[in-house]
Amino acid sequence: MSTRQVVSIAQCDRWRDARRDGVDYDALAADTPFSRHTVESHVSGRCSHQQSDSGMTCPRCQETTQNLPLHIRACEGGGR
Ligand SMILES: [Zn+2]
Ligand SMILES: [Zn+2]
Repeated sequence: MSTRQVVSIAQCDRWRDARRDGVDYDALAADTPFSRHTVESHVSGRCSHQQSDSGMTCPRCQETTQNLPLHIRACEGGGR
């Protein structure tokens, strides 16, 4: 019960995206082990995840990434 779950940056990102699509906090929390309050904090930016709303777009795969240099390396390393 007291297992401490950590919200990953991917989770944080997913919540923000879903929120932008109009999904409400209760629905977002229902999908996860986290409380509605936790979801709210992350969506509103009161968390330690560094995110810029303007992610950069990878010129190779057109994916949005927060760390382009790192992503490019993985992208190129993974063949085409
Ligand atoms: Zn967060
Ligand atoms: Zn890429």
